[in-house]
Amino acid sequence: MREDAYENRPIDDDEISIPAVAWVTLAMEGWAARWMMLGDGRVGCVACGAGQCAGDAWAPFEHIEGCNNTGDFVQQPWLFLRENLCRLPPEPVR
Ligand SMILES: [Zn+2]
Repeated sequence: MREDAYENRPIDDDEISIPAVAWVTLAMEGWAARWMMLGDGRVGCVACGAGQCAGDAWAPFEHIEGCNNTGDFVQQPWLFLRENLCRLPPEPVR
C-alpha cells in the first residue's frame, strides 16, 4: 500500500470510495485547520501568521521560527488547494 502525499489516505484496492465533493470537503477541513486566506490574497499559517503569495506556490511555506505547524501536513498550501479543487466534478452530480 502506498499513501497519498497530502493526506496519508491509503490508495489500494481496499480504499473506501466516497463522492468527490465529500472528499474535497473533508480535505478542506484539514487544510483550514492549518491555513487561512489572508485579506491581501495570500495564504497564511493559522499558528504563526506567516503568509505566502500564489506566485510562490511551488516553494515550501516559510513559517516564523518556532511555529508548530511545520509537521507532516502539506507545506505547499497553494498546491494542495489547486489539486483539491480540481477533484470537483465539472457539473453538479445528481
Ligand atoms: Zn506557521
